[in-house]
Amino acid sequence: MSVLSLVREDLRDFAGYRSARSEALRGDVWLNANESAWANPADADGACRRYPDPQPPRLQAALASLYGVGADSLLVGRGSDEAIDLLVRATCMPGRDAVLVTPPVFGMYAVSARLQGAPVVEVPLRDDARGLVPDVAAIVEAAASGPVRLVFLCSPSNPGGAAIAAADIVAIAEASQGRALVVVDEAYAEFSEAPSALALRERFEHLVVLRTLSKAHALAAARIGVAIAAPELVAVLRRCQAPYPVPTPCAGLAVAGLSEAAQQKTRERVAVVVQERARMQQALAGLPGVRRVYPSQANFLLVRFDDAEAAFQALLATGVVVRDQRAAPGLGDALRITIGTPAQNDRVLSALRAVGRAGEPVAAASRGAAA
Ligand code: PMP
Repeated sequence: MSVLSLVREDLRDFAGYRSARSEALRGDVWLNANESAWANPADADGACRRYPDPQPPRLQAALASLYGVGADSLLVGRGSDEAIDLLVRATCMPGRDAVLVTPPVFGMYAVSARLQGAPVVEVPLRDDARGLVPDVAAIVEAAASGPVRLVFLCSPSNPGGAAIAAADIVAIAEASQGRALVVVDEAYAEFSEAPSALALRERFEHLVVLRTLSKAHALAAARIGVAIAAPELVAVLRRCQAPYPVPTPCAGLAVAGLSEAAQQKTRERVAVVVQERARMQQALAGLPGVRRVYPSQANFLLVRFDDAEAAFQALLATGVVVRDQRAAPGLGDALRITIGTPAQNDRVLSALRAVGRAGEPVAAASRGAAA
């Protein structure tokens, strides 16, 4: 069965907007797109005068080589956020086709579903010794029956930090065959030892992998992310995308940011993060007031505290801003701390040590009172 059977029936032969750049015309005087005939004074080399190619070829080639896939398997968009939104829009008929998410998890899957009017099926992560991991049996059951059209898996997971075992992705992909697309969001893959789900694409044409330049590649503001999928599906997503999604300055920066020299630097920095993550994991686990530090394959740690509010405020008082996770399901005592430079990480530890010390006399006094 073709992967196109998982696309909304009404969009399977939808042509989308035909931009001025999609016409294969030749000429040397371009008067077909209502662009200015002169460059803006701030645009020294005139690079921004014309609308860009919808999928800038040099960037596409650089990303295809980075991820080891064909250019026709790649949709370049404005961060993986855009890919998430396009996948929901292309597969889910409002009010009918559902999106499966595994809370606590990155919020944009449910936000895009809500905007599309797609029902959200929640299969909460299980909290066990390995960390926050998917409930594979429950996902398989939900994906194998009912209205689920899109399964979002996050590996390594935000905010839990655990990577999903390849065997679990295979089990979910097998159960979803012919019924739902399985999307593996690998925004943090560079920090992980787990093999990428890209290796499973040969077996499952309904598997989509999301990658981004926002994390390890340090280009969050350039807003470059990709969906890697079967070429027929990529073609549909392109037709659903805005006419010129990738701004020329962003494409240029991303191409430069993927040069061999830049990638070498990126690898060195990822190695520092991995090393610091281990140090922080151990140091945080040893602090008074810390209940649990989840094992992480990403560039952050999820930490449960006896008093998360005190920890959050103590960090803030020293100028360190972390992500408050207390509104997320099952994380009422948790903060997510991104791994920073070694010096920044030291600041986190010293602020949290101070909370522990400040807490001691109170705890001792209350213990005394109770005794
Ligand atoms: N997926 C996950 C799991 C994320 O944590 C994030 C960003 N926080 C994104 C996707 C979005 O990233 P991008 O900048 O590529 O839109």
